[in-house]
Amino acid sequence: MEISEKLYVGDVVRMRKQHPCGGDEWEIVRVGADIGIVCRTCQHRVLLTRRKFVRGVKQFVARGAESEG
Ligand SMILES: [Zn+2]
Repeated sequence: MEISEKLYVGDVVRMRKQHPCGGDEWEIVRVGADIGIVCRTCQHRVLLTRRKFVRGVKQFVARGAESEG
């Protein structure tokens, strides 16, 4: 799918690569030059460059509330 440049805190995404804990859903907690995501299964936090993030995303699971306005 096309990943738009519009990312919002609260968005939930599924990554292509499964986290070692078994989870594959991540919540965006920071949007900027780098994207901060937290594993929904183990709460592990990772900071990725926007490019790496976009490349790793498989699909959006839910969009954050900010995207609705
Ligand atoms: Zn995890």
